[in-house]
Parts: sequence; structure tokens; C-alpha cells
Amino acid sequence: MRCGACCCNPASNAAEGFAGWVEVGEREPLLADERLVRRLVVRDEEGVAHLRLDPSGRCLALRGRLGVRVECTIYKIRPHPCRAVLAGSEECLRARAERGIV
Ligand code: SF4
Ligand code: SF4
Repeated sequence: MRCGACCCNPASNAAEGFAGWVEVGEREPLLADERLVRRLVVRDEEGVAHLRLDPSGRCLALRGRLGVRVECTIYKIRPHPCRAVLAGSEECLRARAERGIV
């Protein structure tokens, strides 16, 4: 609620030309909600679903100010990869450092 760094496309991923970040599996409950799919999901050239990002690389489902107060607006049905990042893990600390959140 006070971070949100891992909800943003990391520079390394963007540098490789990937516009998508968090993958959405075909069995995720999110894909059953057409209204949310239209707003929050994009598919790459291979048809793989990802969470849609804003121009700065933030997941569009994230509301609020990074590092201050944020909220996942689809928390209960957030995709599996969103649940996999553990606070304090290497991935978490890398994301926080990249966004200047210490
Ligand atoms: S769905 Fe929620 S937890 Fe997952 S990246 Fe977007 S804002 Fe973050
Ligand atoms: S897991 Fe780490 S990077 Fe992701 S929101 Fe929590 S503190 Fe921030």
C-alpha cells in the first residue's frame, strides 16, 4: 500500500522492447470480466495476455502515488505473478531501488 514498485515495467524489460510486464494466464479470473479485460489487458503478437501499462510503465490497475500510497484496484483477482513477489525479496528490492523507493 505504500510502494507499488513491482507493479511497474522494469527498465531491463523495457530496454528489451517488451511493452508488456505481468502476464495473465488464460485461467485467471480477471479474463472472465469483459469490462476489466477491455480496460486492463493487452495481448502481444503471440496472443499472450498481459496487464496493460500506462506510458510510464505502470500497471493501469494501480491507483495512487508510487512510494507514498497506492492500491491495486483488482487486488482480489490480481494475476498469479502479482502474488509471487515477496516483500523483501531480491526482485522486490531491485524494483524499489529502480523507482527510488528505499
Ligand atoms: S494487478 Fe495489481 S498487483 Fe498486479 S501489477 Fe497491477 S496493480 Fe500491481
Ligand atoms: S513486493 Fe516489494 S516492490 Fe512490490 S509493492 Fe511490495 S514492497 Fe513494493
